[in-house]
Amino acid sequence: MKTLVLSENAPDTARVAAQIIRSGGLVALPTETVYGLGADGLSEAAVDRIYEAKGRPKDNPMILHVTGMEQVEALCHHIPRCAYTLAEKFWPGPLTMILPAKDHIPKRTTGGLSTVAVRCPDSAITRQVIALSGVPIAAPSANLSGKPSTTTAQHVLHDHDGHIEAVIDGGACRVGVESTIVDLTQEPAILLRPGGITPAQLRSVLGSLTVDKAVTAELSADEVAKAPGMKYKHYAPQCQVVIVDGSREAAARYIHRHYQKGDRVLCFEEELPLYRDCDPLSYGLEADVQTLSAGLFAALRELDDPAVHMVYARCPVGDGVAYAVQNRLKKAAAFQIVNGEEQL
Ligand code: AMP
Ligand code: MG
Repeated sequence: MKTLVLSENAPDTARVAAQIIRSGGLVALPTETVYGLGADGLSEAAVDRIYEAKGRPKDNPMILHVTGMEQVEALCHHIPRCAYTLAEKFWPGPLTMILPAKDHIPKRTTGGLSTVAVRCPDSAITRQVIALSGVPIAAPSANLSGKPSTTTAQHVLHDHDGHIEAVIDGGACRVGVESTIVDLTQEPAILLRPGGITPAQLRSVLGSLTVDKAVTAELSADEVAKAPGMKYKHYAPQCQVVIVDGSREAAARYIHRHYQKGDRVLCFEEELPLYRDCDPLSYGLEADVQTLSAGLFAALRELDDPAVHMVYARCPVGDGVAYAVQNRLKKAAAFQIVNGEEQL
């Protein structure tokens, strides 16, 4: 199959992409978070093709991408008032809400759950494709399952060229980490995955919010993840990643003591001079966490190389967008974290 590369600005792009979606095909779509691998979310056969292309476990449900709350009303019941307030404040944007699913949504889409995830993305071309296709678009991150997410059309082609009908090239993603997921079927609401909408922003609407354990720690084999995807290996390059916490100086001392040829250091741009001899790769500025979230997955994909033996990674502190970066890096590192201060 030849994969079409459609420009987001070409006049025909939305129409061509919507036609592919309507006929059961796959289109990779740009969003402000990451590129999604889109298909008709109401067609079991189309959604099956997403699972196949990604190698995604069948119990890991999809997010349905919609144009707004009118479309959510056709997909969900018992929608609480706060869902409307959240949508008013944060849509289009990087927020996914879990709500009770109506019966016509295929179990393939919901991973067999009675709830469904919905989000309205902040990409004009992608909203146009949703509107023209006339269906909610199921779109998980377009990476092969387990690998770092796709934040450019080139990442998508690297993973899927020749296996999907089209990708819309909308440039590099602005947020760079996947959407915040909040479960509104429980009281208080539960944060299942941190993202571009921060816990403080959610609390400003919801009052209280609890945080699912899978956000900050590895679940044991017998624990059930509330977001099924959270129990799987995620975002990881081929080699082991270790996060080195602590002050800049303590972390540098620890890394220099352990570094061996073939290892890489994933650090902040401000730290590059400290690691001149350690093959460093910067993923953004510590002083501007937005650059870290935008750059993280491209960096992890670059480190996904058999020549790399081990990655020492620096992780930002903080509870806003930094919280989402911490979550993704911890998962990429399978929660292997050392504190440079304690290892002196
Ligand atoms: P991805 O699209 O690859 O970013 O993954 C979507 C995430 O949403 C996965 O972690 C899923 O487990 C989660 N998700 C989707 N639907 C539901 C749902 N109904 N309840 C809880 N989590 C969900
Ligand atoms: Mg994903």
